[in-house]
Amino acid sequence: MFDELIGNDRVKKLLRRMLQSSRLPGAMLFSGEDGVGKKLFALEIARALNCRNPQGGEACGTCAACKRTLKINYPAGDDSDDWKGIIWTDHADVGLVVAPKRVLLVDQMRAIENAANYRPFEGKARVFIVEDADKLNENSANALLKILEEPPPTSYIILLTSRPAWLLPTIRSRCQIIRFSPLTAAEIENHLTQNKMANAAEARVRARVARGSLSRALEEDLDDFLEQRKAMLEVVEALVRSDGRLQLLRSAEQLNEAQYKNEYERYLDVLETLIRDLWLCSLDDEDLGIIVNQDVLPQLKGLAKGLDSKRPAIWIGQIEEMREQLVVNINRKPATDALFLTMAAASATELPPKRRYIIK
Ligand SMILES: [Zn+2]
Repeated sequence: MFDELIGNDRVKKLLRRMLQSSRLPGAMLFSGEDGVGKKLFALEIARALNCRNPQGGEACGTCAACKRTLKINYPAGDDSDDWKGIIWTDHADVGLVVAPKRVLLVDQMRAIENAANYRPFEGKARVFIVEDADKLNENSANALLKILEEPPPTSYIILLTSRPAWLLPTIRSRCQIIRFSPLTAAEIENHLTQNKMANAAEARVRARVARGSLSRALEEDLDDFLEQRKAMLEVVEALVRSDGRLQLLRSAEQLNEAQYKNEYERYLDVLETLIRDLWLCSLDDEDLGIIVNQDVLPQLKGLAKGLDSKRPAIWIGQIEEMREQLVVNINRKPATDALFLTMAAASATELPPKRRYIIK
């Protein structure tokens, strides 16, 4: 049942309609951020096609076929040889392929082609799911094209990707593209509390740090997040105060201790959402329901009191600009110092300062 899946009601409606009218395309591309449920939707289609007791085109969710389809037999270890074939579920007609390393292999596409040409063993349709389809290289994409051009009538290929632009146009044009949206904080929060995955207070914070992805909501280390946010809240406070330079330099130092690039970027994420929230608080009549950091709202409101809303807007621009430069390899330490001091300068003058960071 699609109703058991979280969010993306528009996609549910579309897939239901296609299943009910038996007009499901043989090749589909599910595009959308990681952690929004693309794979679960694909498996739900496989269940609907093979369910022994379908209801209105949808899977019953309780028959043996439905249950077995959700059991994916991923290899236990990292040995890439184990990942080279089709990874079957407990249902003999439903399988996945996953790139053993960074690239999906020609042999994997040939395995799909071969398996897709068999009639279903036990159900009505064979379904093959290609995870991270952006990992196709030219050769494996060409091997896949052969199947996509003329999929056997009882086989369905579903490609999943969070980077649709990386796929060859020839692949994209042969698939019906289904776009998934990020989940809303409310959808994630409800899901976490209803399934008893977190208590109410924790679900609220997790839903808001997830940025639209359920997997991020579940994986995020909450203590880490709260610690990062505490540090970044000090930065925001120092920016609002006109005498906060010393604190800013201390915070810059703390940020530079982040050992890995993604940890460092995480800090910037947190800082940016805090400043966005502060900006919303500084506007009149703004809907405060969309604020990410609801649990520190009183503090943010206090900081926003008397704050010219142009200032947080300028800070956001400065962070964004710094992030663009992070893509090329800038030296993070001087860049962070420069960023914080430029932001502080923006506080003092209210004019956008010359935006320039030290590039090594
Ligand atoms: Zn069923």
